[in-house]
Amino acid sequence: MNNTESDVVIIGGGIIGLFCAYYLMEEGKTVTVLDQGQIKDSCSYGNCGLVSPSHALPLNSPQLLLKALVWLFQKNSPFYIKPQMDMEFMGWMMGFAFNSFSGKQLEKSMKGRGSLLMDSRTLYDDIFKEHKWDCNWAPSGIHFVYSQEKSFNAYQSKDSKLAELGLAAEPIIGRELFNKEPSLTEHAYGSWFYKIDASLNPGKLLNELRGHLLSRGVQIRELCKVDTFEESNGRITEITTNHGNFKARDVVMATGAWTANLAKQLKLKIPVIPGKGYSITMKSPTVHPTCPIIFDENKVVVTPWKEGYRLGGTMEFSGYDTTYNEHRIQTLKNVANLYLKEPYTNEGVEEWYGWRPMTNNGLPIIDRSPVHNNLFVACGHNMLGLSMAPSTGKLITEMVIGKEKHLESDPYAFA
Ligand SMILES: Cc1cc2nc3c(=O)[nH]c(=O)nc-3n(C[C@H](O)[C@H](O)[C@H](O)COP(=O)(O)OP(=O)(O)OC[C@H]3O[C@@H](n4cnc5c(N)ncnc54)[C@H](O)[C@@H]3O)c2cc1C
Repeated sequence: MNNTESDVVIIGGGIIGLFCAYYLMEEGKTVTVLDQGQIKDSCSYGNCGLVSPSHALPLNSPQLLLKALVWLFQKNSPFYIKPQMDMEFMGWMMGFAFNSFSGKQLEKSMKGRGSLLMDSRTLYDDIFKEHKWDCNWAPSGIHFVYSQEKSFNAYQSKDSKLAELGLAAEPIIGRELFNKEPSLTEHAYGSWFYKIDASLNPGKLLNELRGHLLSRGVQIRELCKVDTFEESNGRITEITTNHGNFKARDVVMATGAWTANLAKQLKLKIPVIPGKGYSITMKSPTVHPTCPIIFDENKVVVTPWKEGYRLGGTMEFSGYDTTYNEHRIQTLKNVANLYLKEPYTNEGVEEWYGWRPMTNNGLPIIDRSPVHNNLFVACGHNMLGLSMAPSTGKLITEMVIGKEKHLESDPYAFA
């Protein structure tokens, strides 16, 4: 068994772990990243690629709870819960419902999410000025498209909330929308256009980041699963994996939807559950959207890139179920069929699913462990890990090296 030592070991090589590595390495730390899989196995690989401050409002709301109840009984709906008697899941759901009715919690979530999202959006601009990474960075805005006048108008109250954070959208209706986005069918009624939002190809970003980190001396060990920890005097002294033991002064746990299970080893309770989502990537149709579109009534996203095109979305609470649910894939195609003149192609198709790390208040946890002095946790980024990653990596780095934080981190503290 080899015994490797560095300043910081990061467990998890998804987008959160890699951005923690990026900023720690910039501060001169020696860093080792351990991942049980390979890049394409993380949730960060096949997501929709949106970098979207417009998503500052949490999912929690009484209206969504009602809608979710209806969706439960529809086979091709964007939402599914596998019947289960899991006490942790039930506790999580009760917390979600409670947070949906607490005005104070909703306000805290919106502000906390908004702050991480806007900071990350700025950091992405800085990063892409510094590095000429090939990952289809497109600061071109995002449409939230509605088919019904009633739901388009109902969205106005959400946009007004976002306006409080300086994130108001431009409403575009009818002919003006079709001129701006000729790929849409007449099924679309109107769009709320968020100019501040951007997009990229997440798999390509992971590859570029990985290459950059390796070239700067960061060790990345793939297929290296962390099993257990040695502890002494409130510190982690050794990490045991299927490829030997690792030592570090500090440890960062960035294990996404797997965090609750790993944290149990350390008697840490972390309320994160997997929320499965699907995407299909293919060769781009000839007539394709000019920027990403969210079909908000159906919770389906289409993201166009120069060399490809992705449909993604749906939320399935089925634990760590590894099967492909064909209904979910079909839902993505059905929705695209309604709104897009050329909804999909059959060339170069890649079907994918990932487990979003879901908390029940919409906020991630970015904090030092309450039990271990040298353990830092960065998880629970819900549907926004790509959008929040740079800011998270920077905050974790500031916590590890004891530097003044560039953002207020209280909203992301352990409860
Ligand atoms: C369909 C879909 C669409 C999405 N669209 C967007 C979007 O447009 N914009 C956006 O911002 N977000 C989006 N998301 C959410 C986003 O993908 C996640 O929030 C993000 O990927 C979480 O990143 P992470 O690094 O925390 O987790 P992950 O990317 O899952 O990385 C965690 C890593 O930890 C590793 N790991 C776990 N346990 C261990 C262990 N014991 N030992 C070693 N390694 C371990 C795993 O192998 C994994 O690689 C979407 C998600 C889905 C499913």
